[in-house]
Amino acid sequence: MKVIIIGNGIAGSNAARYIRKMGDHEIFMVSGEGQYPFSRTALMYIYMGHVPFAGTKLYEDFFWEKNRISLVNKWVSQINYSEKSVVFEDGSTLPYDKLIIATGSKPNKFGWPGQDLKGVQGLYSLQDLESMEQASQTGVNHAVIVGGGLIGVEMAEMFHSRNIPVTFLVREKSFGM
Ligand SMILES: Cc1cc2nc3c(=O)[nH]c(=O)nc-3n(C[C@H](O)[C@H](O)[C@H](O)COP(=O)(O)OP(=O)(O)OC[C@H]3O[C@@H](n4cnc5c(N)ncnc54)[C@H](O)[C@@H]3O)c2cc1C
Repeated sequence: MKVIIIGNGIAGSNAARYIRKMGDHEIFMVSGEGQYPFSRTALMYIYMGHVPFAGTKLYEDFFWEKNRISLVNKWVSQINYSEKSVVFEDGSTLPYDKLIIATGSKPNKFGWPGQDLKGVQGLYSLQDLESMEQASQTGVNHAVIVGGGLIGVEMAEMFHSRNIPVTFLVREKSFGM
């Protein structure tokens, strides 16, 4: 049986590992974010220089080949349920017998004017980290964070580690978890 898992976060990676333990299925794990699964919760520590990206990978690179889990580094743009195939952004396709969707979540957007401008971002993916890094290196002298949850607090700490002043907009009376 050919299994495709869309998403290589903790959910997708664990699904792949356990499916392998259960039998000899052909397994493909797809992610547009990057080829190798890493610990998303460590994003802030990469920015702050506490750990290199390689140190956040869930397993050594050889693990996936050894366990015959094929890693596909592409974005899925469509699922063709009637033909049982996944369509990638580059137009190529991959057929499946079973499909697992483990695509995680993404930052909320509310239709605010300017929300798609350069420099306005969330912090969820490696690509978000990259753009935060780029902005930090190109002379940002003030950051505004909207939302006082875990990610907002982490971003404040990240900017603070680079001496970038932050204004923190929090709806509630307190911030944190
Ligand atoms: C900065 C940060 C700090 C966090 N800290 C904590 C913490 O301290 N404790 C805690 O419990 N949780 C924390 N979380 C939450 C935790 O990381 C998530 O709950 C967890 O990563 C979700 O795992 P997942 O496998 O469901 O999805 P994800 O990790 O989001 O993985 C989904 C994958 O699917 C890929 N994908 C999505 N759409 C497509 C597509 N169309 N084509 C191809 N690939 C696609 C994505 O690129 C991604 O790689 C944190 C999250 C962030 C962002």
